[in-house]
Amino acid sequence: MKIKKGDNVIILSGKDKGKDGKIIQAIPKIDKVVVEGVNMRKRHVRPKKQGEKGQIIDVEAPTHISNVMLVCKKCNKPTRVGYKLNKEGKNRLCKRCETII
Ligand SMILES: [Zn+2]
Repeated sequence: MKIKKGDNVIILSGKDKGKDGKIIQAIPKIDKVVVEGVNMRKRHVRPKKQGEKGQIIDVEAPTHISNVMLVCKKCNKPTRVGYKLNKEGKNRLCKRCETII
């Protein structure tokens, strides 16, 4: 996956289109990422003990990586990702400003 935990991304489609946020979890197996504050779903939490109330909490649901675009740390714009090889290995490259990010 081209996107990893800690990256900033912008949402390209869906109800959160145009929003940006940080990747808090990457799930390469299903090509999905969890973006902070994006794709919020309500989850009902059952009471654990007797007498306790159930709660409804907001949690982020995973978003498919095709719906997000990486925001370059250097030029601060959504960008496509390229790769550049050097002696340290494969580096991720912003296609806009050609900086390794
Ligand atoms: Zn850039």
